[in-house]
Amino acid sequence: MPSSPIDTSKPHPARVYDWLLGGKDNYPVDQEVGEGLPAEARANAGRNRAFMHRASAWLARQGVDQFLDIGTGIPTEPNLHQVVQAVTPHARVVYADNDPIVLRHAEALLVSRPEGVTDYIHADVREPMAIVERASRTLDFGRPVALSLIALMHFLPDDQEPYRITRTLVDALPPGSYLVLSHGTADQHPELRQETESAYKKGAIALRMRTRAEVEPFFEGLELVDPGLVTAPEWYQEQPAPVYERSGFYVGVARVP
Ligand code: SAH
Repeated sequence: MPSSPIDTSKPHPARVYDWLLGGKDNYPVDQEVGEGLPAEARANAGRNRAFMHRASAWLARQGVDQFLDIGTGIPTEPNLHQVVQAVTPHARVVYADNDPIVLRHAEALLVSRPEGVTDYIHADVREPMAIVERASRTLDFGRPVALSLIALMHFLPDDQEPYRITRTLVDALPPGSYLVLSHGTADQHPELRQETESAYKKGAIALRMRTRAEVEPFFEGLELVDPGLVTAPEWYQEQPAPVYERSGFYVGVARVP
């Protein structure tokens, strides 16, 4: 795998997120952004991660055994393959991220159960078809695939066409596939919007939080499964969500008809 240098002079989303989750793979520039964020951001990152665990496990229980996770982040156990292979040992999982630090830690993502497979692609979601082509070496796009874009699309401003990119990826999936998406929002705490945006802006990271109405179009043409488009702590299957918590993320799981 090619190795790109790690630039520690400017903050990166993957490392800021790692800091928010209490990880150690981040640098002072990333910590600075994290510390500038509202205190809520740490709990929200944890709630987003917990949603990823619940949604992936649920999909595995539905019989989905192929996963494409774009915007994977720095490995944080359990990673998606560990969650789904605990249900379905033969599950095949392809990860993709554009950050060199994620590439450097990719070995942790490549430790598959022997019955299954994991692969890692160093790539940018803004070139969606390159990811699909590379992923098709490992995944069979003739059978259902769960595509996850978790805490990723808010790093794409409108002019980078996040909806079109999502559509291109979804169009590559056969019927019975799923889109799992989570997206940053300030709807639940508008009073924290400015603090959040200015912390990322200082770090020169483009952050485009979106309202509920702006997140809905990511699921256009798809069938949202219950409980629909909700905040991260509200997404539960087979059991009611625990007490309501605020959240900085909208989430949804939708089926490709
Ligand atoms: N999905 C993980 C990590 C979210 S952090 C989780 O929710 O727990 C967002 C991730 O998206 C980071 O790892 C960052 O490097 C990656 N990312 C941001 N822009 C990207 C792009 N254009 N292409 C690919 N990955 C990107």
